[in-house]
Amino acid sequence: MLAFPSTYTVGITSLGYQVVWATLAQRADVDVRRLFTDQGDPPHRHCDLFGLSLSWELDGPVLLDLLEQQRIPLWAAERGDNDPIVFGGGPVLTANPEPLAPFFDVVLLGDGELLLPAFIDALQECRSAPRPERLRRLAQVPGVYVPALYEPRYDSDGQLLGVEPTEPGIPATVAKQTWRGNTLSHSTVITPEAAWPAIHMVEVVRSCPELCRFCLASYLTLPFRTPSLDDGLIPAVEKGLAATQRLGLLGASVTQHPQFGELLQWLDQDRFEGTRVSVSSVRAATVTPELGRILAKRGSKSLTIAIESGSERMRQVVNKKLATEEIHAAARYAKEGGLTGLKLYGMVGLPSEEEADVEATAALLLALKKATPGLRLSLGVSTFVPKAHTPFQWQGVRPEAEKRLKLLAKRLKPKGIELRPESYGWSVIQALLSRSDRRLAAVIAAARGRHESLGGWKQAYRAVREGDASSSEPLPPPWEEVIHASWSPERVLPWEHLEGPLPKATLLKHQQEALG
Ligand code: SF4
Repeated sequence: MLAFPSTYTVGITSLGYQVVWATLAQRADVDVRRLFTDQGDPPHRHCDLFGLSLSWELDGPVLLDLLEQQRIPLWAAERGDNDPIVFGGGPVLTANPEPLAPFFDVVLLGDGELLLPAFIDALQECRSAPRPERLRRLAQVPGVYVPALYEPRYDSDGQLLGVEPTEPGIPATVAKQTWRGNTLSHSTVITPEAAWPAIHMVEVVRSCPELCRFCLASYLTLPFRTPSLDDGLIPAVEKGLAATQRLGLLGASVTQHPQFGELLQWLDQDRFEGTRVSVSSVRAATVTPELGRILAKRGSKSLTIAIESGSERMRQVVNKKLATEEIHAAARYAKEGGLTGLKLYGMVGLPSEEEADVEATAALLLALKKATPGLRLSLGVSTFVPKAHTPFQWQGVRPEAEKRLKLLAKRLKPKGIELRPESYGWSVIQALLSRSDRRLAAVIAAARGRHESLGGWKQAYRAVREGDASSSEPLPPPWEEVIHASWSPERVLPWEHLEGPLPKATLLKHQQEALG
């Protein structure tokens, strides 16, 4: 059974989910059924495996509802020989699986292309063995993390000392696996019920070489990989366009592909008349009038660029190599090419940010509006959330961010610039899930039914911390320390036993370059 923690419409639009499903479905020795929160294939009488693909922190708690619905014990420790092995993967779990670790038997760290076949092969070899033996065997597969075989140790003040194997022969660290083949993924299901109806999605790049200091999409998935145009991208696009006229080009920053211009020229051919092409966020510095023209001709209305901040100083701090003039040029070119809108993405609450930096963001938007009249501008803005395996993993969420979101609204809304702020409360919940250790699992269980509100999480956190005084279970650290505090580089991180692409020393160096 392969589950997605949302509706069919959302889940089937996830390329990651589609690819895992297709990889499993292609195997003669696996009979895979799909499960979404609103529908699913009829369950198999006996299910050996229950998988969950997670791409957003806030989806994690939905796992518990799905497990309950399938009558699978919620806690891994309570599962027996006849219960399925519950496994998960995706960026959220690869970055920091610890808060959800007690609910999973297995977490796959890294790219599915390598991990899934190795995981299934290993499981087939020991399928009839007792559960503990199967788990021990799986823990030997590179990139397969079996949380039950690792135990956290704390000092008397509740500080984490490390997460260590519970028995000899289990690797002390688990390294994320990286796919280095020259093809990347594309849709295997095209359906009118997807959030983008009938879209064929093609992954153009994986990771991003820019290394913006907060960016999980870059740091966690390094190195930057691109399929070749002739043997990778064009065949993948052709395949989909034989079945639909809607194409989505995906990736952290698609215009970074060295042959992106050639791909667009190829899509400019008359035989693609009627085809609609959408691209995910592009790098502002790579926008050209030609890009605007071809996207407009192929049905795109707007272009999306991430600026992070309107302040040059702030962009330098986060390593966003983008001049204000390049943002203005991107807006001009988008308009000249025939696009009618420009969506910008920014953040507030970045480390070292001051109110003047936020004023600079408002000023930039107002200047863009003046310089490119008629181009519809919108600003999506979120609060900085520290992510594991990035140089800003030691930085906390800044409470000032909430006020700064309001400041942007005050400056921009009266001037007719659409502002799409992400809820500050959601960012705090994200930080809780991205930065906590295994002690959060009890809170996740306690927050069931109220996990969509910050108040619900706070109540659950308090209840667990103040709970049964006679319990020997270690209590989670104070809320403030997890969410808002900046952590010392000496602090043992909850994900330190899991190896990301870059060593801690390099991340610290990047943090120092940013913040001094
Ligand atoms: S350019 Fe975008 S995708 Fe690349 S590192 Fe920066 S924020 Fe991440």
